Amino acid sequence: MYRTHSNGELNASHIDTQVTLAGWVQKIRNKGFMIWVDLRDRYGITQLIFDEERTSKKVMEIASQLGREFVIQIDGTVIERESKNPNMPTGDIEILVKNITVLNKSLTPPFTIENETDGGEDLRMKYRYLDIRRKPVRENLVFRHKVTMAVRNYLSEKNFVEVETPYLIKSTPEGARDFVVPSRMNEGQFYALPQSPQTFKQLLMVGGMDKYFQIVKCFRDEDLRADRQPEFTQIDCEMAFVEQEDILNTFEGLTRHLLKEINGVEVSDFPRMTYDEAMRTYGNDKPDIRFGMEFGELNDVTQHKDFNVFNQAELVVGIAVPGGNSFTRKEIDALIDWVKRPQIGAMGMVYCRCNEDGSFKSSVDKFYDQDDLERWADITGAKPGDLICVLSGAADKVRSQLSALRMELAQQLGLRDPKVFAPLWVVDFPLLEWDEETQRYHAMHHPFTSPKPGQLDLLETDPGAVKANAYDLVLNGNEIGGGSIRIHDKETQSLMFDYLGFTPEEAKAQFGFLMDAFQYGAPPHGGIAFGLDRLVAILGGQETIRDFIAFPKNNAGRDVMIDAPAPIDTAQLEELSLQLNIKG
Ligand code: ASP
Repeated sequence: MYRTHSNGELNASHIDTQVTLAGWVQKIRNKGFMIWVDLRDRYGITQLIFDEERTSKKVMEIASQLGREFVIQIDGTVIERESKNPNMPTGDIEILVKNITVLNKSLTPPFTIENETDGGEDLRMKYRYLDIRRKPVRENLVFRHKVTMAVRNYLSEKNFVEVETPYLIKSTPEGARDFVVPSRMNEGQFYALPQSPQTFKQLLMVGGMDKYFQIVKCFRDEDLRADRQPEFTQIDCEMAFVEQEDILNTFEGLTRHLLKEINGVEVSDFPRMTYDEAMRTYGNDKPDIRFGMEFGELNDVTQHKDFNVFNQAELVVGIAVPGGNSFTRKEIDALIDWVKRPQIGAMGMVYCRCNEDGSFKSSVDKFYDQDDLERWADITGAKPGDLICVLSGAADKVRSQLSALRMELAQQLGLRDPKVFAPLWVVDFPLLEWDEETQRYHAMHHPFTSPKPGQLDLLETDPGAVKANAYDLVLNGNEIGGGSIRIHDKETQSLMFDYLGFTPEEAKAQFGFLMDAFQYGAPPHGGIAFGLDRLVAILGGQETIRDFIAFPKNNAGRDVMIDAPAPIDTAQLEELSLQLNIKG
């Protein structure tokens, strides 16, 4: 037996017990006649003591040659510690060592294996297996496990069946580029890795599985914006014989269960907001509603004076920053610079101080009097002591700029408390989205999403106005899930492909299997997928998903530990009938 106990469980009740422990050497203190070693494993740390008077010479000698991260096994007796450490579960005891075996030596690790390490991100990723020995990383992985177990138990209880779907498939259009895998046996042909199991879960509904889920890897070859991974995990779900209301209720139940089970937080019914309302009120389809700062549209109360910047704007819109009147001129200038950065792209920012005495002082006092400014305050909900920030320009752009400013200010003001959870359903998304680059409509969610009942005809006259049976679940300003009620008849699906610019031949070649299936009694169905990595990070009160992934990739999509991606040799290329054509 390698060990009788873990390194996290011995305490005063075990005094005088003979134990065998194994683990890694975390720390050594060598006074010559006495040596203390902190022995670590997944469960904790236990202090070992080697004492010249009570430990054999041979064992003393081995102990004196230990290094950090050596793997050892010891036999000894649990004894009471002289100087106890109340901060450690094992702090009342230590082990007087009788025998020691070095199971494996270790090179000196490139960074300290402590809660706070001296290793930078790159180094820690290169030696991720050492990083995982650190308590915070290990705890995050255990936390993720708890979340996935809670998901599995809950859904299984509700009659969902976890079914695996293939990874080597044909492209599913979900808005990103596919990762492709060449097929050796089918020369010149490629599999695509799934961007999600979308079509398979729909086929499972045609197959009568009724309630499906899968905790599944998805692959998207996207430019990696901050905190995205080329492979990520979804809780993918689908149900048959459901309407949108059934899906929202079921997965509100799951989310509520997770918040209770994992965070001990009870939340009441999730509010719902239409996409249009979210865009108007927060400039964003995934608003953080933990704090107010709702948009106030100011066109009516600004476009009657000589201020041309506002007069020419499609939209003039502002927010009230609570307590913002205390900002110094320098702080406000910094905000103006912030919105003018190319990433945000505003031309400038108008502001209005709301003084405690009820008067106003704006950066455009030349054009607007106290009555005008009072109306701004009414509309934005500003109170004495607040600051009104106003942006103007083309409606879509200015909404997204003000949304970014709102989030930045909330961050600065500490309004984004990770311990507060504010879920929200955003519903009635547009079916289609105009793409400037290709000058075409794309499916906003994916091409299998059904339009709202009775809106098919609108596709002819005003495609951009058609709403979909599509919904997102938003938590604290993050989209944590999204889905839709699907099209389940061949005619509508063909029509949709047609609107999206597929020729009938292309649609048949790519999705013939799905449209065939729809002809054999496809039930009405719909579903949702949660981004597990993000969900876990939010429940864990942290920002980056990388912290909850055992072996994540860096911002360039590389695994720096195994050094992938990497070239393959000529023989392998030939076997796959591939020739490289690398430019530059
Ligand atoms: N497959 C969709 C996605 O990955 C989710 C869904 O519609 O269920 O976003």
